Amino acid sequence: MNKIKKSILDLPTLEEKIFVIVCNIGFVIALASSIITLFEGLGKVATISSFIATFFMLFIVMVYKKFNNERLARLMLCYFLNCIFIPFSFFSCGGIDSGMPLYIIASLFVIMPVLKGKERIVCFFVSLVVNVCAIGISYNGMVGTKAKTLINISFMPKLSLESRILDVIFSVLMVSLFIGFTTITILNAHEHERQEKSLLYERFEEMSKRDALTGTYNRRELYKFEDKIKNSDEIYYISMMDIDFFKAVNDKYGHLVGDKVLIDVTKEMKLVAPEDNDEFVVRYGGEEFVLVFKCSNSGDAFKRIDDLRVRISELRWDEFPELQVTISGGLARYAAGDNLMETLDLVDETLYEAKNAGRNQILME
Ligand code: GH3
Ligand code: MG
Ligand code: MG
Repeated sequence: MNKIKKSILDLPTLEEKIFVIVCNIGFVIALASSIITLFEGLGKVATISSFIATFFMLFIVMVYKKFNNERLARLMLCYFLNCIFIPFSFFSCGGIDSGMPLYIIASLFVIMPVLKGKERIVCFFVSLVVNVCAIGISYNGMVGTKAKTLINISFMPKLSLESRILDVIFSVLMVSLFIGFTTITILNAHEHERQEKSLLYERFEEMSKRDALTGTYNRRELYKFEDKIKNSDEIYYISMMDIDFFKAVNDKYGHLVGDKVLIDVTKEMKLVAPEDNDEFVVRYGGEEFVLVFKCSNSGDAFKRIDDLRVRISELRWDEFPELQVTISGGLARYAAGDNLMETLDLVDETLYEAKNAGRNQILME
């Protein structure tokens, strides 16, 4: 059961899920109805036609899977069911005197989720006409009816009152189970699809905020920061940092090693400005980062960033023990009401001064 459920949920589109759901539930209900005909004494023709209709459901799934022809499978299901199997079963299982009219409703219901657009409308009206004709013709075979039509349906069983009651009860049960199960399963598949889409949307949204290599935020997220802290009474500090002589690292060790250095350096930065504390690291340029973090005073803020500078200079890589990187940085205070762009210009200038002053140092505005 779980295997069937999983294979249905794995189908790529909701339409395909619905189609396979209808075929599967249709098969189970048709099989149960066929078995019931054995006990109702409706005759051989009724039982054989019911079983043929049941295995037709499996044949449809085969056409869909093996020949990979979904449109043909859908059309075959609706037309064969509504225009051949149901009208034939209608006669062989007792006609208007039996529970068969309920099966007509069920098979017309199948058209709705399985076909689309014009195909749905055409199939519905063709099926309706065929089944209304079948009902009309079946008067010929009804118990106590004197009317005669041109067609003599010799295999149409004449049901006793008890058989009629039993057949209608079973038909109500089977058809309501079919419509109920199909509707619930379609709604579940739809809900599953909705949840998957919303997860996907969240993932894309998160990806659109971040740099793929380091997982740090991108500039767009930094620019939203001004609005975010509009009403905050927290004091933030902004630091802009740049790796010293990083081009030389790439030239000497290759771009992949350069990438690894960027990842490890940003790991250290993320520890200083953790996201779960509403602090964050932004990749501002290639090897240039902006840290936004909360701190109550300048002395502590400076210490936090200078300690980070020391920790980054102590980073080592097993494959290249002699490799070492340093950073230079500028630092400024930033609180609600301050202009973010101006503060960024300020820390950029301070960073430039730290570079000119010999690198591997943090300067405060
Ligand atoms: P300075 O101390 O003045 O900052 O010198 P620098 O060599 O770090 O500065 P420069 O701007 O000349 O070089 C930055 C280098 O960063 C050049 C570029 O190839 C490298 N870079 C930028 N993005 C990436 C990246 O994603 N991966 C790698 N491996 N290198 C990158
Ligand atoms: Mg640099
Ligand atoms: Mg740079």
